[in-house]
Amino acid sequence: MPLLSIQNVSVSYGKVEAVRNVSLSVEEGRIVTVIGPNGAGKSTLMLATMGLLRLQGSVTFQGEDLSHLSVEDRVERGLCLVPEKRELFHQMSVRDNLLLGSYSRSDRDAVAADLDAVYLRFPRLKERHRQAAGTLSGGERQMLALGRALMSRPKLLILDEPSLGLAPLIVREIFDTIASLREIGVSVLLVEQNA
Ligand code: ATP
Repeated sequence: MPLLSIQNVSVSYGKVEAVRNVSLSVEEGRIVTVIGPNGAGKSTLMLATMGLLRLQGSVTFQGEDLSHLSVEDRVERGLCLVPEKRELFHQMSVRDNLLLGSYSRSDRDAVAADLDAVYLRFPRLKERHRQAAGTLSGGERQMLALGRALMSRPKLLILDEPSLGLAPLIVREIFDTIASLREIGVSVLLVEQNA
């Protein structure tokens, strides 16, 4: 059974159909990439998978039909989206943004250890833990968005164009991090414009 299964999914904005009849699946431990040009509907498909847009078709996660689950429930099940615009809380510190990633968790005792693990993975975030998120560089913001997502202890991370607007060296760093997530049992559904 795949971790995530998207079957015959269509999504419309009013009368305009942005995604038509798409099917894909992500097996546990895999990184699956969806590649397509601007406007192809990639972000729309990811938002719909998270429950942020209404869809036709079916999405299951670990065999469970997600259609009746709220976004929060989906996060609790282990799905987490890092949106294209990263959507940080700009006036809040790096640390507080990270802690917000854990808000739905009931195992509060483990949160401090997970924060340390994120700092270990992204030493730059540790150095800047008191800095306002809005003052970070583009690459640091992407690290923060990834770190915040990891704080929810996801089983599947959905990453919408993590390379967008970043210098090649930083892109390399971010993709190395993404590749290493497998070691902690995180599968990835990745959206990019270019292979
Ligand atoms: P990009 O690589 O530029 O992010 P994308 O493949 O992620 O593109 P989407 O953002 O999913 O594409 O957009 C798909 C289509 O849906 C586009 O034609 C876009 O204009 C349209 N669209 C996106 N959001 C809305 C919205 N809120 N209302 C109406 N149309 C929308």
